[in-house]
Amino acid sequence: LTILGLESSCDDTAAAVVRQAEGARPEVLSSIVFGQTELHSAFGGVVPEIAARAHAEKLDICVRDALAEAGLTLKDMNAVAVTAGPGLIGGVMSGVMCAKGIAASTGLPLIGVNHLAGHALTPRLTNGIAYPYLMLLVSGGHCQYLLVRGPEDFSRLGGTIDDAPGEAFDKTARLLGLPQPGGPSVQAEAEQGDPKRFRFPRPLLDRPDCNLSFSGLKTALMRMRDQIVAEKGGLTRQDRADLCAGFQAAVVDTLAEKTRRAIRLYLAEQPGQPTVAAAGGVAANTAIRAALETVCAEAGAAFTAPPLRLCTDNAAMIAYAGLERFKAGARDGLDLTARPRWPLDQSSPALIGSGR
Ligand code: ATP
Ligand code: FE
Repeated sequence: LTILGLESSCDDTAAAVVRQAEGARPEVLSSIVFGQTELHSAFGGVVPEIAARAHAEKLDICVRDALAEAGLTLKDMNAVAVTAGPGLIGGVMSGVMCAKGIAASTGLPLIGVNHLAGHALTPRLTNGIAYPYLMLLVSGGHCQYLLVRGPEDFSRLGGTIDDAPGEAFDKTARLLGLPQPGGPSVQAEAEQGDPKRFRFPRPLLDRPDCNLSFSGLKTALMRMRDQIVAEKGGLTRQDRADLCAGFQAAVVDTLAEKTRRAIRLYLAEQPGQPTVAAAGGVAANTAIRAALETVCAEAGAAFTAPPLRLCTDNAAMIAYAGLERFKAGARDGLDLTARPRWPLDQSSPALIGSGR
């Protein structure tokens, strides 16, 4: 099976081709990503209208490049998969319209994919892990622990009750005048800093569940920053690095402890040796990955995380999630709609804090 995937739910326009031969591991034949960071940099965040226009302009070029890099044409595809939500609605609509155009003109089956399912299934694409597994999905808009039993079978064990960690990294960067996206720049600063100089809160650790909260970190950061500015008139390079290090240590500690608890909750449902996987943009953070590895080793769990470029937004994960849905017999019609919100765990629609 060969699937073309499209992704345009946030600020990356992407197309990819993924192939899986009978009985073989899936392969990424091409993965094209056009980032929009420069378009939004003057605004300190993603501007939905600018994003939607840029997606509409770039999608067909992405598709052309993805097919060319794979050395294939639309005739070689078995289906076209597209992110149908959740995300910025204008961008999601651009992708869905483009995929419908391809499906209508070629007769290829159309498969709508949940962006979060794309992130959550990526460790199967990259590391070949089997169901069931415990997924920590940590991204720009989401943070949740999921029990993954199949391509459409997700149970949420817990997650953030307010901000996502990616959002917290981005806000931290903004407050300290560092470039966006904040994750990589805060990580780079943190590597030069002393994590002990500033003590950030570790919220919700007094509760036994695996829910998290990140909104208090930015308030703490703002207070610390303002105090240094009031005392010394400005921030030095070292102040900035120490603030980043303190902030990142709080995120790392919280995720580590909540992962311990999530493993316990997971084992209550799925006894045996657990596999734990992390995905989403924040899973690209090396300190977070290292902490999760340690926690899993202590708990006797296997840990995997996709390579960095497949952690952040891409279309290979959408093509692959589409491939799994296609194999399960799923097909969408030309009436497929773009959804701004689309919780993975459909059984509990009253999800709190699932981000967007
Ligand atoms: P979602 O998938 O929830 O809709 P999104 O698609 O915007 O949100 P991703 O592309 O998965 O999110 O991840 C982007 C986020 O990951 C950004 O907030 C970015 O700052 C963060 N990020 C990227 N690299 C790192 C890193 N090394 N450390 C921490 N955060 C990172
Ligand atoms: Fe994403």
